[in-house]
Amino acid sequence: MKRIHVLLGQIDDAIAREKSSENNEEVEFTPAMLTEMAGELRNALEQVPKPSTKGEKAAQRKKRRQLEELEAHRDKLQEYDSHLDTLQERNSCSKTDKDATFMRMKEDAMRNGQTKPGYNLQLATENQFITDFALFPNPTDTLTMIPFLQSFSSRYGRLAHTVVADSGYGSEENYRFMAENGMEAYVKYNCFHMEQRPRFRPDPFKAENFHYDEEHDCCICPMGQKMRRTGNRHVKTASGYVSESAGYRAVRCEGCPLRCLCFKAKGNRTIELNHRLRKYRQNAKELLCSEEGLKHRGQRCIEPEAVFGQMKYNMNYKRFRHFGKDKVFMDFSFLAIAFNIKKLCAKMRKEDMDWLIKLFYGLTAAFFRCREHINQRNLQNIAA
Ligand code: SF4
Repeated sequence: MKRIHVLLGQIDDAIAREKSSENNEEVEFTPAMLTEMAGELRNALEQVPKPSTKGEKAAQRKKRRQLEELEAHRDKLQEYDSHLDTLQERNSCSKTDKDATFMRMKEDAMRNGQTKPGYNLQLATENQFITDFALFPNPTDTLTMIPFLQSFSSRYGRLAHTVVADSGYGSEENYRFMAENGMEAYVKYNCFHMEQRPRFRPDPFKAENFHYDEEHDCCICPMGQKMRRTGNRHVKTASGYVSESAGYRAVRCEGCPLRCLCFKAKGNRTIELNHRLRKYRQNAKELLCSEEGLKHRGQRCIEPEAVFGQMKYNMNYKRFRHFGKDKVFMDFSFLAIAFNIKKLCAKMRKEDMDWLIKLFYGLTAAFFRCREHINQRNLQNIAA
């Protein structure tokens, strides 16, 4: 845009001057506007009588060059617009697979944190059977949870009763969604693991460890001073969720013997507390430390992780075989079906139900033979 404004400033033409000189900071040029302007400039140039002197010829050449430059900028702008259309909300996309977004991968052969185009695959499992999956363009897990839970609901006609997930999903927005929909959220938050260490001692100078007096809506600092509420701050997340934090300020920190341990800034200490998140975290902690929670936590590492491990290392499924979200979805759907059948057979074999496996194989083979027979009669079916 800057280049276009500079160029239009240089072009010695009435139309360009009119459009660029005055409100040139506010005009947001579009390719259509530039095409129209370039057309008018070209017409104006063609109507000028043939130059006779050397100086006139040089001026004419300069104008033609500027016109070509303007057209080049228009093409570039068009290209940028089409890129933005492809990107939508994302920051990057691959040229070979426009639906894939550049992300950091666990597999990093160069050891330089290189990004590669990919999809964020979310899996739901139960007894190591894949119950649902979804592909997302965002590299972090936090924003994928609600749409994933909703996709589960649209697949099964109900929301999950119990949700077990790791700390990557423990945001206020996710906790709130689960609480409002009556789900039991065994979802860790970012410092849960640290808090569980036997040698963990909470830092008394951290804002979240200050005592909060709910009755008088104030905080008590380690020196015993009351911190008064100063106001609220609203923060909007990438998904549009607005979280509210309350601000508190100490009345007088000057001369406090603990000041060097407490904070470094000038003036009196101010802190921010998100009360809603604190409550959700407290509830999550109680659930996770309960008997049922311990069972779920123990189960979590052998549930989805085992499924990923089997897929990636035993079945060597480390890459999708197709380009485009729809095809990748189809690609993984087949794998998920095959995975579940394999799991079912292994389970039946374990429970000494070989006769059932044979029956299952027999029925499947018969089904495919029937399909083949029907398809042979109708060539269009085969194509479909
Ligand atoms: S520096 Fe201020 S906020 Fe920190 S302990 Fe002392 S009085 Fe309390």
